[in-house]
Amino acid sequence: MTDADAAGVPGCVLAIDIGGSKFAAALVSPDGELVTVHKSSVDAGDDAETLFATLVAVIDRVLAYASRVGLSAEIVGVGTAGPLTPNAALVSPLNLPGWRDFPLRDRLGERLGLPVAGALDTQALALGEGWLGAAAGVKNFMAMVVSTGVGGGFVVDGELLHGASGNAGHIGHFVVVPGGRSCACGSRGCLEAEASGTAIAAMTGRSAAQAAPSMVERTGRLVGRAVASAVNLLDLELAVVAGSVALGFGEPFFAAAQAELDAHCHLAGAVRPVIRPAGLGASAPLIGAAAVGWQALSSESPDT
Ligand SMILES: [Zn+2]
Repeated sequence: MTDADAAGVPGCVLAIDIGGSKFAAALVSPDGELVTVHKSSVDAGDDAETLFATLVAVIDRVLAYASRVGLSAEIVGVGTAGPLTPNAALVSPLNLPGWRDFPLRDRLGERLGLPVAGALDTQALALGEGWLGAAAGVKNFMAMVVSTGVGGGFVVDGELLHGASGNAGHIGHFVVVPGGRSCACGSRGCLEAEASGTAIAAMTGRSAAQAAPSMVERTGRLVGRAVASAVNLLDLELAVVAGSVALGFGEPFFAAAQAELDAHCHLAGAVRPVIRPAGLGASAPLIGAAAVGWQALSSESPDT
């Protein structure tokens, strides 16, 4: 029995993952167990209320199970595709045009009668990896995703960086190839425009899964280059990397990224930073969303 149990069994977090093509919700116990998980695919063409109804249906299935087994949630933790405003008050997931400045936090709060804490999916990933994944016990690290796009989240001195608009962590828009490929953000040579699965497919005519060893090595090097700048800026000791492209490439990718990191990180007094695969696998989005909820509970009452 833990101290928390002895003090009275704490409630769980209702964790919600808002992706571009699916919604997922879970009841997550204080030790990170996914007690029950439900998901639904979403149609990108749905309007705002249809999307919300889909989300509510997923949540209701989770809560129905929770009720049957005598558990309850004391906070809602949300990880969502961005952009958003602080604490997911308004969300505008790029792949869901029906939600533009959708008041997700208030709508969930009204519906559920619980405090709601929210963050970007990549920020949630960072908190989740720091709680139970490859960055457990580390106070200064970054987590990033290298898949169809590239994004990240940063934890400094044990605290997630939110930023002025709530969207901190856009490592995908570090310039790694000056004058390089055009990026959707309007710049050129961004990491996302050079190393994402979308970019690799555009450059090679094949999916990232079929990339040649030279492309795997190049992608690792460019990711390592961006990570090196972030590490030097924020004095980080670790970068954990998730996403289908990075994890699919595996060891040759991580070796190239580490070599590039080593080549660019020599600041006096700084620790030798390490880049390694993320540890939470498929459960990362919901564990991360739960971590967003736990962090809000442990720091202060979210302003509901
Ligand atoms: Zn860009």
